[in-house]
Amino acid sequence: MSLDPTDLYKEVILDHNRWPRNRGRLEEFNRSSSGFNPLCGDQIALTLNVSQNQIEDIKFDAQGCAMTVASASIMTEAVKGRTVDDALKLFDAFHDCISGKLPPESLDDSEEYYALLGVRALPVRIKCVMLAWHALHDALSENET
Ligand code: ZN
Repeated sequence: MSLDPTDLYKEVILDHNRWPRNRGRLEEFNRSSSGFNPLCGDQIALTLNVSQNQIEDIKFDAQGCAMTVASASIMTEAVKGRTVDDALKLFDAFHDCISGKLPPESLDDSEEYYALLGVRALPVRIKCVMLAWHALHDALSENET
């Protein structure tokens, strides 16, 4: 997948922004978190159902820019069904790639979240993209609610 901002990555993001996956709030959940990005005014709330160390279900509620909504949609799809450890590993890898600590090749370029790395060239948007991921990290790091 190309990281050219005029290219495929934009299509993935537009698609998730137009038709967000896993949007809403779970009626029953045992993990939750919320986040706010004052730079852009983005807000997010996550609800998760974690059972036997596995993310059985996850939903997000967001009000924010296109990048925030698309990133949350892509993130929820990427981690649903993963173990908590696996999801936290993905968070670390994604965080390190988007902040430039690791090269983009460290992530699987056939995955949709790879498209989000396109914002590496736009530091102000990184906060929008990371909002959902930080909320995920918070929700998985806390004790059961
Ligand atoms: Zn934003």
